[in-house]
Amino acid sequence: MKILVAVKRVVDAKVKVRPLPDHSGPDIKLARMAMNPFDEIAVEEAVELKESGKATEVVAVTIGGAKSVDVLRTAMAIGADRSIHVQTDDVVEPLAAAKILAKIVEKEAPGLILLGKQAIDDDCGQTGPMLSGLLKCPLGAFAGEIAFGDDGRVLVTRETDGGTQTVSLALPAVVTADLRLAEPRYVTLPSMAKARKKPVETIALADLGVDAAPRIRTLCVEPPPARKAGVMVSSVDELVEKLRNEAHVL
Ligand code: AMP
Repeated sequence: MKILVAVKRVVDAKVKVRPLPDHSGPDIKLARMAMNPFDEIAVEEAVELKESGKATEVVAVTIGGAKSVDVLRTAMAIGADRSIHVQTDDVVEPLAAAKILAKIVEKEAPGLILLGKQAIDDDCGQTGPMLSGLLKCPLGAFAGEIAFGDDGRVLVTRETDGGTQTVSLALPAVVTADLRLAEPRYVTLPSMAKARKKPVETIALADLGVDAAPRIRTLCVEPPPARKAGVMVSSVDELVEKLRNEAHVL
């Protein structure tokens, strides 16, 4: 079984992003970039499934500008066998990403399509659900565990607010990775060097015949309100009094 994993290049999670002076968007021109953390988890899971004999090939795919190849190299250093780069310098919203990924699924015919549960740049969490809708195939969103039954179906244990839910999905299926699905391995220099020799296929977005035009207009980008300064208390009694009367604690 082939696994296709979608990986997005986003601003590194440790970078504090600020809005542009005109509030038209985030100021990310000089920001350090990295693979979306949930996609890293998805790649690790795919590679572990291959290492345990449940999958035969792991293919990473990204949609973006020339520098997006960096995240494909990282995916291949983790253990993906090859990569596909859908090249575009335009903004790619979740619906467009889902349509593009649907085309790649058509071409590659994977058994399992893994994505992150959300990209930490837009926090949309929409691409996986939209992709499963477009493909008319089952969705296991927020996966904390993946297993395979003897019946050729995939068992996905989903993280929910109240605990977990295990669902059995017919293949091909779309699964989105939550935090506990896998722990990404440390990428070593030799594995990075090895990844440089693995194949990357480049496809121009225009050649896919997908309407990827943006549907969303950003009106304003604001930072979250600054936190109020803390207050020093002189005694436990004063702390309890403040908690009771100001923090609405019973
Ligand atoms: P989002 O719906 O934007 O929160 O993204 C959810 C997931 O969709 C990400 O974690 C990726 O796995 C995938 N995805 C979204 N945009 C892209 C992209 N431009 N290239 C590759 N994968 C993407």
